[in-house]
Amino acid sequence: MSASAHLESPQAAGAALPAKTIGSRLASIVGERRVLVRQNELLTYTADGLPGYRKHPAIAVFPGTRDEVVKVVRALAELHAPFVVRGAGTGLSGGALADGVVLLGLQRLTRIIDVDAENARAIVEPGVVNAVITRALAGQGLHFAPDPSSQAACTIGGNVAENAGGPHCLKYGVTLNHILALTVVLPDGEVVKLGNPTGESTGYDLLGAFVGSEGCFGVVLDATVKLTRDPQAVRTLLADFMDVDDAARAVSGIIAAGIVPAALEMMDNPTIRAVEASVYAAGYPTDAAAVLLIEVDGLAAGIDADARRVEAICREARARGVRIASDADERARLWQGRKKAFGAMGRVAPHLVVQDAVVPRTKLPETLAAIRAIGERHGVTVCNVFHAGDGNLHPNIPYDATDPDEARRVEEAMGEVMRVCIEAGGTITGEHGVGLDKLGYMPLVFSEDSLATMCRLRDVFDPERRANPGKVVPVHSCREWGRHAAIATAPVDREPSVVPVPEAPGGRLREETLRLREEIRAAQQSRTPLRVVGAGTWLDAMHPVVADRKLEVRDAEIVEYVPGDLTMTARAGASLASLAAAARANGQCIGLDPFGDEKGTLGATLATASAGPLAHAFGTPRDNVLGVELVTGDGTIARGGGRVVKNVAGFDLTRLAIGSWGTLGVITEATLRLRALPEQDLTVALALPAQPRATADVLARLHALPLAAWAIEVVDGAIARALNVGDGPLVLARLAGNEPLVAAQRRELATLGDVAAVDGDVWARLRAIEPPGATVVRVS
Ligand SMILES: Cc1cc2nc3c(=O)[nH]c(=O)nc-3n(C[C@H](O)[C@H](O)[C@H](O)COP(=O)(O)OP(=O)(O)OC[C@H]3O[C@@H](n4cnc5c(N)ncnc54)[C@H](O)[C@@H]3O)c2cc1C
Repeated sequence: MSASAHLESPQAAGAALPAKTIGSRLASIVGERRVLVRQNELLTYTADGLPGYRKHPAIAVFPGTRDEVVKVVRALAELHAPFVVRGAGTGLSGGALADGVVLLGLQRLTRIIDVDAENARAIVEPGVVNAVITRALAGQGLHFAPDPSSQAACTIGGNVAENAGGPHCLKYGVTLNHILALTVVLPDGEVVKLGNPTGESTGYDLLGAFVGSEGCFGVVLDATVKLTRDPQAVRTLLADFMDVDDAARAVSGIIAAGIVPAALEMMDNPTIRAVEASVYAAGYPTDAAAVLLIEVDGLAAGIDADARRVEAICREARARGVRIASDADERARLWQGRKKAFGAMGRVAPHLVVQDAVVPRTKLPETLAAIRAIGERHGVTVCNVFHAGDGNLHPNIPYDATDPDEARRVEEAMGEVMRVCIEAGGTITGEHGVGLDKLGYMPLVFSEDSLATMCRLRDVFDPERRANPGKVVPVHSCREWGRHAAIATAPVDREPSVVPVPEAPGGRLREETLRLREEIRAAQQSRTPLRVVGAGTWLDAMHPVVADRKLEVRDAEIVEYVPGDLTMTARAGASLASLAAAARANGQCIGLDPFGDEKGTLGATLATASAGPLAHAFGTPRDNVLGVELVTGDGTIARGGGRVVKNVAGFDLTRLAIGSWGTLGVITEATLRLRALPEQDLTVALALPAQPRATADVLARLHALPLAAWAIEVVDGAIARALNVGDGPLVLARLAGNEPLVAAQRRELATLGDVAAVDGDVWARLRAIEPPGATVVRVS
């Protein structure tokens, strides 16, 4: 080994730490062959999937086992040496770049440790390539649902760190929704377990905070991933449009109709032409202004009705043609064109800027028009290929970076595109992360206080900020600026040329937020404990707070409700009943239905992470909230997330606040993801046998049935009688979907016993009664 580079510890800025010293130490753990220090050997690791940045690591180390990873991290901790973890290096935000520090490569950790098909979960090492998991499950009727277009190369560690998405995340959710537990080595060398393999978790959602933390919170040693059943049937449609606006309207129409396609992707004309001119040609019409690639999947019974509905909506939006893939080969070809579109653009020009931003779905037509105009004004070609179903745009510009004038125009155009997306109520990244590339945009979507709160969260995991230094949160926003000057002054390659826009809607904080802040500050000064009170219906739950002073959350307004986007922003004092009523008036519903009084407030539901029967289909409150505003115990007003359905900008304060029982702050506002009410909504009761063993058998068979129910609860005889739906234990199931789908599910249930339709209001009554001593069990 030759020692040609030097490391600086951010703890002792200016004090150079010879790479040789660190290299020898690391070699003693992993062997000399697994440590690289020569510049020519390190060249491969100077870039990731995003062209335009080059950073030179001082050393690269490649452990081969989890044990070695822990030893390496502990050695780096002793040496106070900063490091950057790298998976496959396909990231598109410069996140895996190590600038003069240690690069910790995990591509040798490729073991699938365990597959538990019965419980649909697997434990994998971080270097396992995404697509390999699904390949390993062949013949078992299961797959790993997150499918970034880079899935043939990217690793699970990288997916976790970026909270990666992909085309099928529209229906199945992003990486976070498929991670049950993680083993992590923290930057100080401590090994911790986050989450729970059963999926149940109590306490702070540290797993939720870790996923998407872009390598800044620690190193994933293994991940317990949730496996998804293969759908019974799939239909893939290609709709082509002569006007991009029409395609965008079709997207809104499909979502508003309550259909949740597995995937809903858009490609515009420049992208189509690039794909068709490449080896990935998929038969897209090259004269179309845009095509939509739409996939519906699920139970065979309802699939053709959904596909016909999608086709009708596209035709209403003036689609020129709609084609349904006739077999698996055609489907694969249509998808290959989409998934390799970035690669196809590589033929157009030597360099490509890949952008990632999100806008509310209803803003797609005007945003796409604005992006087109920006491209024309700057004389650059913008190719749009993106996850239209969740408004996640990828405007990309092929260009020649060696032409300074063109590079400048691309730079300016991208800055303007970002600004347009933010002004439309969107955010700066939906799946690629902030990394280095988006650092400069963070102050445009988060206030100084929000950014400082994110830094405080990072410090919980990594107080020395040695893991992936200088990424995600611009350090000048942190209060501990001086302590981390070495990192803060690390050069950021490019600053966007956009003017900051206020983070809060309308640029103003609401009066109640300011009032609460003052009360909290006063209480902090006088060291008076506070008891946060919503409607006061559940104050004695769990371990009641003992405090003389109450902090009442009163503001109950719905701040913004956009039915077309299926999003609603409300103040924390709003009752769930009022939110549900507003949604119902628009044929929609909220995914929150906790047991207890309907007068209960949004704030309390989120603070306690209370869930009800709908959690079967829509998950817990953490899965239903897109963003929160909270006032922390020192009076800091922080926001996490945003108002769009996909968002990986910054560390996840939202999931952390939910279920924190008021211990991290007072939730003052939240944005909810809504659902469209289904075409048919049928509740049935399935009588259970009296004998426990026979009941257990029925429940096991129920678990294996192909159902797409919104709720399934098992209630005992006492509750069944109180609800007036039966005399003994039974299963209550809420079957939702189109008519054939609901009928088929009912038939499936009837194979287990007597099934009778019951009034749908049984769910509201169930949530309200729950007599002491009676039992309700969720089947999921
Ligand atoms: C052609 C192409 C298409 C893409 N399509 C998509 C898409 O559809 N959706 C999408 O979301 N992304 C997409 N991406 C981006 C990228 O593939 C994902 O972000 C992916 O999750 C990165 O995985 P990786 O193994 O390459 O991670 P890397 O690039 O190596 O690292 C990414 C980040 O993860 C951190 N990291 C890696 N491993 C670990 C670990 N074990 N513990 C802690 N931190 C770790 C790194 O420090 C870095 O910050 C695409 C990229 C390309 C090139």
